[in-house]
Amino acid sequence: MKCDYCDLLERNQGILFSDNDVVVAVKETALTPGQLTIFTKDHFTILELVPDKVLAHCAVVANKVSIAIFETMGCQGTNIVIENGLSGGQNVPHFALEIIPRRENDNLPLQWLPKQLMDEEMDTAFLMLKEEGDKLVNVGKEEKKKEVVLKSTTEKLITEDGKDNYLLKSLRRRP
Ligand SMILES: [Zn+2]
Repeated sequence: MKCDYCDLLERNQGILFSDNDVVVAVKETALTPGQLTIFTKDHFTILELVPDKVLAHCAVVANKVSIAIFETMGCQGTNIVIENGLSGGQNVPHFALEIIPRRENDNLPLQWLPKQLMDEEMDTAFLMLKEEGDKLVNVGKEEKKKEVVLKSTTEKLITEDGKDNYLLKSLRRRP
């Protein structure tokens, strides 16, 4: 059986926009009129499974959709929400972002009150996550390295051959 979002896409129901990677839709159920749902065209169940390139595109589309909501719905703010995993409130097993128009005193149940943490709680969480945080320093660097290698290989082929060859053509075809 298809999931709710794959089903919307197949039936072309409430779809405002779609491209190769993402779909923007209006659902029958929402917190408030004007709420839009952005989901990936391919069926990725949770955030962690969405490829970086598609996720980056989702963020760009979310920003454009948020701007469109501001301009057309006359709201003063938006919430951009990802429900990730069952405990995160996700009830459709397909990654999505919700863009929710907000107005002053609209009383939508999206506020939470942060509580003051005990020093010990904060320190423990910090230490547990610090190592993971350090790994983020290298995010994106691997991709750049690959590009440099690809570029220098391509240049070498041009100098060696002086003309296009099969390998060069196939390198150029790579995204
Ligand atoms: Zn799906």
